Amino acid sequence: MAEGAISTPLPPPLPPLAETIRRHGLAARKALGQHFLLDATLCARIASIAAPLEGRHVLEVGPGPGGLTRALLDSPAEQVVAVELDRRAIAALEEVAAAYPGRLRVIEGDALKVDAESLLPAPRRIVANLPYNVGTPLLLGWLHRAELFESMTLMFQQEVAERITAAPDTEHYGRLAVLSQWRCDCRMTLRLPPGAFSPPPKVWSAIVHLVPKPGPFDPVLMAALERVTAAAFGQRRKMLRSSLKPLGQPEALLEQAGIEGTRRAETLTIGEFERLARLVVAAGGAAP
Ligand code: SAM
Repeated sequence: MAEGAISTPLPPPLPPLAETIRRHGLAARKALGQHFLLDATLCARIASIAAPLEGRHVLEVGPGPGGLTRALLDSPAEQVVAVELDRRAIAALEEVAAAYPGRLRVIEGDALKVDAESLLPAPRRIVANLPYNVGTPLLLGWLHRAELFESMTLMFQQEVAERITAAPDTEHYGRLAVLSQWRCDCRMTLRLPPGAFSPPPKVWSAIVHLVPKPGPFDPVLMAALERVTAAAFGQRRKMLRSSLKPLGQPEALLEQAGIEGTRRAETLTIGEFERLARLVVAAGGAAP
């Protein structure tokens, strides 16, 4: 090195993602919801939505060939724990782990079955380009444990992102919006066209950034909210005095909550749903 030259750390010795995919035979499998992000700038942008990552332990679900994983490792995150179901991707991810010594833990497994609390210490954040087929069940599971995470930055099919962030009295407002927004502040931050992925999916995708609301969190109340929303949106065209029948005495419940029985589920605010859930809890699980 010439005298006086400034030494900069060498970039990790990793091949371009397309080569990683070719070398490891990672032809995309539809059954695993595989649509890969190959654009490093885009991956860096997603990592930046999840900021600040300094000192954070990041759970990534479905790292695939590792494009987003590399971006997360280029951030100041303390550690990335990546859970991938596809055995074919594990060797490719181990190469990434070797390029970032001590910062990437690769776990071969089903994200629906792993326990984030035992997998990585706090402060935790989730960042993931989720497989479409299990995106909603994964989110519902994390909402139950939302106090474990500082934030969740998740890529879904755009329609699912709309169902998470929808406001009352709009087309996509339903159970997923109520449960997500009751538990978290939810913001749709980035929409991506099919062509951003390889292979391109049929539909647009979108990132939702969820920040759990501060506690205390009452799991019994959430269970009641799940029951109330299941009944209400199970028959969303019906008036609440009829759709809430599975809960017991809908007329009395609605009267106590100060909600007209002739209203329909889609018109209720999150606060009104919470009021109904509290009354169900107070009545020991059934409507008063
Ligand atoms: N993160 C990569 C990217 O952005 O290019 C890949 C995203 S791709 C949409 C979804 C990934 O999730 C695939 O790698 C797929 O194998 C993986 N996957 C599917 N089901 C899974 C599950 N139940 N648990 C963990 N990973 C899963």
